Amino acid sequence: MNSFTYVRASNLDAAVREGARANTYYLGAGTNLLDLMKGGVEQPMRLVDVTRLPLAAIEELSDGGLRIGATVSNADAASHPLVTARYPLLSQALLAGASPQLRNMATTGGNLLQRTRCSYFYDTAFSACNKRKPGSGCAALEGHNRMHAILGASDKCIAVHPSDMAVALAALDATVRVRGPKGERAIPMSDFHRLPGDAPQRDTTLQHGELITAVDLPSAQFTKAHYLKVRDRASYAFALVSVAAALQMEGERIKAARIALGGVAHKPWRATRSEEMLAGSGLQEDSLRKAAAAAVEGAKGYRDNSFKIELAQRAIVRAVRTAGGAA
Ligand code: SF4
Repeated sequence: MNSFTYVRASNLDAAVREGARANTYYLGAGTNLLDLMKGGVEQPMRLVDVTRLPLAAIEELSDGGLRIGATVSNADAASHPLVTARYPLLSQALLAGASPQLRNMATTGGNLLQRTRCSYFYDTAFSACNKRKPGSGCAALEGHNRMHAILGASDKCIAVHPSDMAVALAALDATVRVRGPKGERAIPMSDFHRLPGDAPQRDTTLQHGELITAVDLPSAQFTKAHYLKVRDRASYAFALVSVAAALQMEGERIKAARIALGGVAHKPWRATRSEEMLAGSGLQEDSLRKAAAAAVEGAKGYRDNSFKIELAQRAIVRAVRTAGGAA
């Protein structure tokens, strides 16, 4: 690990002032960042510890929504009564992630900023990784790519975003609140993470020095929900494919649906066409299957991961049927 300066921020203004300096990273729980530093993948000169900032509250908003502070742990968010009652999808997704020990430490802000688990990204013995070293190539394109993307990839990077929480937040139309040298702004979840394009080294649309302060959820209208995570082990494994399905039901019919996929793209993948097709539909398998097919239009498999195209569709059908109470 390279040597670095450690600073503990005493308030938000001081944190943002420090965070605006060159090659400076914010430090939350460090459950991902410290691994990356030990492996030599990340080499910050300064760490600004934000864990003591007053960002650990979960509070109701005047419009009926909910604000989750950036330093709320994943475990606390998952078990909070307002989250379990109004946003069961988020609670389920959080509990599907990592291990109990990691969830006790990991924060809301850090979860959004965790980096891909592509093994070539972590292993500095491989020279070709555009995300770690721009312009060096992508070892996964011709290598082991079972865990990689089938949607929205580029010839520069086919990595996927590893977060479960972010998939639920995408389905729930959350907003990420940030503060930086130019002030505060709110970023819709759909715009927060980016596709790799020609710059896979950039995971998000955050500007230099911006700090996540909270995540806002709109008032809860999609309480029939299910988060389905398909993975190699029953726990402590990243998703091959995951589906966040949230429904408004009118009797036996779907009034409105929100569907997001994890494990398939560089960002949580909203299946908006599927959502449109599900509105007004019943929970019969044939109509769900047609909506699921729309989610993978344009999908492209690589050597080891073409199975995800079928798997994603089956997972959508199962998640929607479970959310709607038909499974
Ligand atoms: Fe690097 Fe992305 Fe290629 Fe993985 S998929 S080796 S992260 S460029």
